[in-house]
Amino acid sequence: MTTGTRVLVLNAGSSSVKYQLIDMLDGSRLASGLVERIGEPAGRLLHLPLTGEPRETVRRFADHDGALHAVAEELAADLMGLDSPELAAIGHRVVHGGLRFTRPTLITDAVVAEIRRLIPVAPLHNPANITGIEVARSIRPDLPQVAVFDTAFHATLPEHAARYAIDRKTADEHRVRRYGFHGTSHQYVSRATARLLGRDPAEVNVIVLHLGNGASASAVAGGVCVETSMGLTPLEGLVMGTRSGDVDPGLVFHLHRVGGLTIDQIDDLLNRRSGLLGLCGDNDMREVVRRATGGAARSASNEGGEERREGVDEDAKLAFDSYVHRIRRYLGGYYAVLGRVDAVAFTAGVGENSVEVRAAVCANLEELGISVDPDLNAVHSRQARVISPSYGRVTVAVVPTDEELEIAQQTFALVHEV
Ligand code: ADP
Repeated sequence: MTTGTRVLVLNAGSSSVKYQLIDMLDGSRLASGLVERIGEPAGRLLHLPLTGEPRETVRRFADHDGALHAVAEELAADLMGLDSPELAAIGHRVVHGGLRFTRPTLITDAVVAEIRRLIPVAPLHNPANITGIEVARSIRPDLPQVAVFDTAFHATLPEHAARYAIDRKTADEHRVRRYGFHGTSHQYVSRATARLLGRDPAEVNVIVLHLGNGASASAVAGGVCVETSMGLTPLEGLVMGTRSGDVDPGLVFHLHRVGGLTIDQIDDLLNRRSGLLGLCGDNDMREVVRRATGGAARSASNEGGEERREGVDEDAKLAFDSYVHRIRRYLGGYYAVLGRVDAVAFTAGVGENSVEVRAAVCANLEELGISVDPDLNAVHSRQARVISPSYGRVTVAVVPTDEELEIAQQTFALVHEV
């Protein structure tokens, strides 16, 4: 068993690698950074050491192998290289674990082969995740490496929530079911919300609203996820930055047969040219709010900034209203699924920062015991905090997510189990 107390968390995307080196004694970040535009002529590595200035390298990183070796060199320059005895393990974010991986898993050749077999259900994500794993294993073959799956927390969805109402044989043949994503965040935030309430996660029912560029909601009953808004792919559910979320599946046939669009064009439309972007031309909620309110965005990070009043932009207003309406539909639905709701937690870029979105999502829900105190809602902080009034039956909270810490903790716990 290792005596190290540090975990390196790697999140390998198709053209990027993000990393954090975390000290498990106190959860502090010893270093973090990212390599982006891998494979392009001008790639970039940004390394943020615990102390000292950020270091930026702009050059070509031919592939993930080159990128990860460059990361290893940066860490070595800080005397925290991958050969350090302090390093206990590497934790890898893996998007899709299918039905096979419902827990953090120690990586072996067989596990890599199994993640590879899941590529047909996660063609955009799993190949990059596998590359990250392979390169990290080639650098440190002796070090425990753990895969933490985005889908795992949702493996507890009851069958009636996980199945689409389609022919079962066809569904099973193609592994079609609702897997859900952002699981690491939903797990971390639902537990952190229980802590904020001073209660055991097993006792509380929480609706988590993870509103980032991608967005998803989940219903967590006593620490167990029972519903989530993403499905077979991360396209289902809420209106997102560039993804449509729920649409009538008949829209695909219509655009193909009547509109003459190819399947790839429809894929591109729904995943990359829809959502807030499709409705108003902007996918950043700060900009949507600024335009929709006539230039007076109240996002906490904007406070004190210059206020420029313009006319209300109807496209942006529609985008904002559609975004909020969809969340409220899920909020009401999950209320019914859970029966009793103790807390609603807002998290990720929009959830943690947008005063306007939180206020609009919770407006006129007093009958459900949900309301937001305007002064508490306007507070800007990195801490988990309650924003509902003391009389509210349901605690509304802002709970910053920390997927890297969750991955590190699950990795560290597994390495100490075996
Ligand atoms: P990702 O899904 O890429 O991890 P994040 O959770 O970082 O996304 O969220 C990014 C989004 O958060 C941005 O696109 C932006 O819309 C939103 N956001 C960030 N800061 C603010 C802010 N101060 N006010 C409103 N929205 C914000």
